[in-house]
Amino acid sequence: MNWKLLLGIFACILILASASPHYRRARHRGRQPPRRCAGCIRGPRRLSDSIAIVGAGPAGVHMAYLLKKKGFTDITLLEKNSRSGGKSLTINYRGAPQDMGTVYLSPDYEENIIKLMKKYTGDNLAHLPPASIRLGDLKLSIPYKQYVIVESMRNFNTTNTTIAGMKLVHAMKSYIGLHARLFGNYTGELMPRPSRSVMHRIRGTFMDFLKRENLASLQPIFLASHTMQGYGHLDEISALYGLMWNTPKLMVGLLKRLQGATNTGLYMLKHGFQPLWEAIIDQENLRVHYDVDIRLLYRNRRGSWLCTRDERECHFFRFVIWTPELKLSFRKFRPARSDERDIFSRTQVHYYSTSLVDSLNVKRGLTAIDYMFGNVLSKREHSVWAQRDSYAALRGYAGPAYQNGTYPSGNDRKKTRTVVGYQYGKRKPRVGQLRRIMKATLSEMHGTSIRIRKVEPWRYFPRFSPADMNAGILWDILEMQGRHGMWYAGSSVIFESVKSVVEYNELLVRKMRPPCG
Ligand SMILES: Cc1cc2nc3c(=O)[nH]c(=O)nc-3n(C[C@H](O)[C@H](O)[C@H](O)COP(=O)(O)OP(=O)(O)OC[C@H]3O[C@@H](n4cnc5c(N)ncnc54)[C@H](O)[C@@H]3O)c2cc1C
Repeated sequence: MNWKLLLGIFACILILASASPHYRRARHRGRQPPRRCAGCIRGPRRLSDSIAIVGAGPAGVHMAYLLKKKGFTDITLLEKNSRSGGKSLTINYRGAPQDMGTVYLSPDYEENIIKLMKKYTGDNLAHLPPASIRLGDLKLSIPYKQYVIVESMRNFNTTNTTIAGMKLVHAMKSYIGLHARLFGNYTGELMPRPSRSVMHRIRGTFMDFLKRENLASLQPIFLASHTMQGYGHLDEISALYGLMWNTPKLMVGLLKRLQGATNTGLYMLKHGFQPLWEAIIDQENLRVHYDVDIRLLYRNRRGSWLCTRDERECHFFRFVIWTPELKLSFRKFRPARSDERDIFSRTQVHYYSTSLVDSLNVKRGLTAIDYMFGNVLSKREHSVWAQRDSYAALRGYAGPAYQNGTYPSGNDRKKTRTVVGYQYGKRKPRVGQLRRIMKATLSEMHGTSIRIRKVEPWRYFPRFSPADMNAGILWDILEMQGRHGMWYAGSSVIFESVKSVVEYNELLVRKMRPPCG
């Protein structure tokens, strides 16, 4: 044997020995080994792998659409209800889509939800009319802009409206600049994990942060853009959530709106939100099994068995994506891992309930979007925070003619006013309690013949404490993705908005280890 041959054999032995067991296993099965990449998330390994997505809400439907676009061929959505859309629930009533859940879009929706909407349902954007505000006296309604100016005069200790306005604009611009300095320019809902010094600077509640940064004068802005949307009182919610939602782009839109612009990127949908998810399912031909309530998930290294009632009704999938609220779910996982238990048990949910209500003679607000800041500020459990007359809002009806009832609230020539009313509380409400409070509130506003057609007491925005957020729990969850053979998606791992869950899906798919063909 000559020395060249010997050297060749030796080199081969070296190469084989250094190949990872993972690689050798894959080769042994005659497959292409999955490619490795630094910082990637483990996901489905092959395009033909069977994938189950639990929940056909916005996160589930969008994830199925994204994975299909990536070339995955065997995707099944499992939904416990008999409809898709989750918290996007649209009831068509009196000639208007009455959105009982998802309803508004902000400038941050341009690159995600608005693109989807244009592709699947055509352009059905309607500009959001300005809000009117009621404080202590529920019969008195003032424009939101007036409320902001009065509060700014108080905050800046001046009687001059121009000076108050200028100082407010300055504070909004400072916030925008500070946000950019803290987090830079980033794509999607979740910014890259900030440095320790940034985390220290944004510690505590949103109000703590605003006070430290001399920006507490922005409270009237965030009351509408944050608290009113159910995202927490400023003195309770983590500063990081505040900064995630109130992006520079949103602030620029709000600033333009205060300065009188009408086209500021704030919208509603003319046909409501639920039809968007239904259109994606339809046009993408997505496979959805309805009335399938997943009660148990057994997993091992090969994949997971999803069971509806007990071990006798189980189906095997190579990969699972779980979108329902994780605090209610992780106990269904067998085995439940300690990191899952530790993280997902920590969220706290509040309740944002909506009711579809008819009434006569009620004292209308100045516009069809009617915020009751008095109730928000008092933090009274399940008090009415807002009402939206969808028929009027979509048509831009406002002003004295709207207030005195000249403009209708439906397409049937009746004098009845129909609204979606919002009630907020920390403890789980009883439906009877919600109805009682709603009726009492409308009676106080001179309403008669009050009929509550439907009540939805939603579990809303599973949130981590300021301390957990400050410890970087959202990035810890991101690092856990794929570790136990599944992904966690949906609002309980990021934030309660359709834009947030869709952007989180995009992040997962962007970071996914490339699958094999
Ligand atoms: C009153 C209200 C107003 C809102 N307004 C806005 C707004 O203006 N703009 C905005 O962007 N967002 C808004 N949202 C938030 C938005 O609707 C949610 O963030 C979004 O729906 C979250 O999507 P998701 O898929 O994560 O969860 P969900 O919408 O909750 O969907 C989860 C799905 O999983 C299903 N499921 C649960 N458990 C199981 C199980 N065991 N097996 C099978 N299926 C299961 C559920 O039935 C549901 O369909 C609002 C929500 C509410 C309630």
